[in-house]
Amino acid sequence: MNSFKRPTENIGLYIHVPFCKSKCPYCNFYSLCNNNIADEYTKSVLSSLESYGKKLNRTADTLYIGGGTPPLLGEDNLSKIVAGAKKHFNLTKDAEITCEVNPTSADKDFFEKLFKAGVNRISIGVQSGIDDELVALGRKHTTKQVVETVSIAKEVEFTNISLDLMLGIPNQTIESLQKSIEFLVSLNPTHISAYLLKIEPDTYFGKNMPQNLPDEELCADLYEKAVEILSEKGYYQYETSNFAKFGFESRHNLKYWHCEEYLGIGPSAHSFIDGERFFYPSNITDFISGNSPVLDGDGGDFEEYAMLTLRLAEGLIFKNVKYRFNIDIPQKMIDNAKILSKIGLVILDDIGIRLTPKGQLLSNAVIGKLLDL
Ligand code: SF4
Repeated sequence: MNSFKRPTENIGLYIHVPFCKSKCPYCNFYSLCNNNIADEYTKSVLSSLESYGKKLNRTADTLYIGGGTPPLLGEDNLSKIVAGAKKHFNLTKDAEITCEVNPTSADKDFFEKLFKAGVNRISIGVQSGIDDELVALGRKHTTKQVVETVSIAKEVEFTNISLDLMLGIPNQTIESLQKSIEFLVSLNPTHISAYLLKIEPDTYFGKNMPQNLPDEELCADLYEKAVEILSEKGYYQYETSNFAKFGFESRHNLKYWHCEEYLGIGPSAHSFIDGERFFYPSNITDFISGNSPVLDGDGGDFEEYAMLTLRLAEGLIFKNVKYRFNIDIPQKMIDNAKILSKIGLVILDDIGIRLTPKGQLLSNAVIGKLLDL
């Protein structure tokens, strides 16, 4: 048993839904293009929720159903999963309950049933406000379908809606990015995630490199522009890739960045509980057969905590480090922060250490340097 001190009493729950209509050429999430075992899969998720509920005896205050494409499980199965989480993890009354959807996968009936089940946050994979860019990404939806999906979700009284935006799309320019952001903002979401397209070797794009990918310099400009426009439009950057109206930060994802505990259920889902990391291998047949997750070592030490929290706008807060680890920030880290502050990458003050917008752009390198202890 390690000496892990629980950062909070409540944990987060993640359910992975490994089904998609077709595989997007850039995607390396675990998903199958076949959902004819949706009912069987749901039963396995429910039985895992029940056994972990008994084993851990914890309360959850966030539930995130992601994928994959969760609507392919069907609204009845999704409702059963929400009910299972409530029953076995005593979901708090104010729990944040998110479901990811694609603009072609959800209709009014779907949203109504989800709302009734208790889902209170919808995350939609929009990616771009330019139809040609959606085609370049191999997405099956159009911007018109995005408008319709958001409008139906709002009609059904979903008030907390997050939209995904992708940066670094083939042929993307500063002008097309501006249009995309204007499109997203016109839909008045509460939250926007903006991720850089990364070409992973095991994807279609990895094997067939797309033409006209923005180079590194343009990607940096796209990112800086996105941060600038989103902030002008009232979406503050609370994490390297995440922007929200005040009070609408993703509570579930904040658990990851605060290095708090979460249980992930489904093939490829990762967990961090009582100082231990573990994950289910990416194999649905094994999951349905009732396999156990694989241990992935201890987690939650100071370095890991620092690495994660430095991605947040609030950064590494001295008093939180003292509370959680009963240590002061190592002097070498303070010295590193002083050097980086002189070149405008970091702010060091009485509260803690945090990255400037320029530092966020180079976050991996800056965090690496800060943690060079
Ligand atoms: S990007 Fe989303 S919809 Fe496309 S294959 Fe991956 S999980 Fe499925």
